[in-house]
Amino acid sequence: MSIIPPNSADRRDVLFHLHSQTNPRLHARRGPLVMTRGEGIHVFDSQGKRYLEAMAGLWCTSLGFSEARLKRAAAEAYDRLGFYHTFSHKTPAVTIDLAEKLVALSPIPEAQAYFATSGSEATETMVKMAWIYHAARGETRRRKIIARDRGFHGSTIVAASMCGLPRMHREFGLPLPGFLHTLCPDPYRGPLPGEDMPRFVARLAAALEAMILEEGPDTIAAFIAEPINAAGGVIVPPEGYFPAIEAVLRRHGILVLADEVVCGFGRTGNMWGSQTVGMTPDMMAMAKGISSSYFPISAVLLGRPIQEAMAEMNKDGEIFGHGFTNSGHPVGAAIALETLRIYEEMDVVPHVRAMGERLRAGLRSIAGRSRIVGDVRGAGLMFAVELVADPATRAGFEPVGRIGARFDAEALNNGLIIRPMGDAIALCPPLIIDAGGVDELLER
Ligand code: PLP
Repeated sequence: MSIIPPNSADRRDVLFHLHSQTNPRLHARRGPLVMTRGEGIHVFDSQGKRYLEAMAGLWCTSLGFSEARLKRAAAEAYDRLGFYHTFSHKTPAVTIDLAEKLVALSPIPEAQAYFATSGSEATETMVKMAWIYHAARGETRRRKIIARDRGFHGSTIVAASMCGLPRMHREFGLPLPGFLHTLCPDPYRGPLPGEDMPRFVARLAAALEAMILEEGPDTIAAFIAEPINAAGGVIVPPEGYFPAIEAVLRRHGILVLADEVVCGFGRTGNMWGSQTVGMTPDMMAMAKGISSSYFPISAVLLGRPIQEAMAEMNKDGEIFGHGFTNSGHPVGAAIALETLRIYEEMDVVPHVRAMGERLRAGLRSIAGRSRIVGDVRGAGLMFAVELVADPATRAGFEPVGRIGARFDAEALNNGLIIRPMGDAIALCPPLIIDAGGVDELLER
């Protein structure tokens, strides 16, 4: 029985609005949590209740919920040019500025920026570019993509196929053929009894190589990974993981794609998550933090060999047959440029490290007083706290997810928005959080 009053906003939401990543029947009974206003790291619901948004929305609003400079940047951009596109040699002027700025920040030498509007579009774009890269070199059989268990790369069909989370596949008969998944480098649950980290890493690299050899190296185009898995449980890979994995991939001519959609722009305590984990990608996808999600904009940075392959592929005057209406949108570009200026002015990387250490220390202190915290992990301002029935044996609760859901409900009561991932609690606050904000988060 629904408890939602008739003719209310809640009732209209239930009637007219289908929600992402939500159980439809439960939603019809419970109704929505309607947010109406933001102020710094806090948001307010329609009843006026204030919440500390410890997930930065969906790992995205790095500058919080009321950055006036982004509002002004948007207004000025709309005054100049409400829309223009990037097809057929055209471009908004501000989009060139953003491309130049991203290339200056890029760890990939001599990169170019390609724009899209979502993280899913950016990760899928990298797949198409990887296909072009190999086809231009005559390796047209290289089509398969290796992703990882517990990875997340988006919701469109190819992006979802690259996800390593069953909920992204179950209803749709995914993954598509040719999208493979190798082991997740989870240092908490992955090692076998008695296996130390170097041997765990060596086993992961060996498993990847066995998969490549079994499939045929000449059928594999690229490997994609988040530097630190976000939605899969904030998995920080063990020391040496990416160098070991990349050695295998390079041996077999397979491109390395970094999904920096969450990890980019300071989140992990470096400008790029790749730098935090020692990954050296050929291409990288970014979104979310690029505009603090004040506008749907994403980008791919692609290195010189990919650019050359695209020129070669179209050497007889054909076009790169890809693009979105809103690729490089001038308002999104202006907002992203202003976002990047603010990161520079606030010196985002040292700030994230300092606040991250404060948050880590606080979480560890809570863990020390708790009987159900098995693991506190993370980097920069991206953490997970894993709740377990027995920290000594690491045995989880049964059924998985019940304690996480209860924690989520209690946190909401306390005015704190977190995200349960099974029984791991994710914390990914806006990067503007200060010491007072961290202390408030811990207290709630
Ligand atoms: N990649 C990662 C690592 C993500 O976390 C997400 C979204 O959460 C995506 C890609 C997809 O981005 P979008 O939802 O903008 O398509």
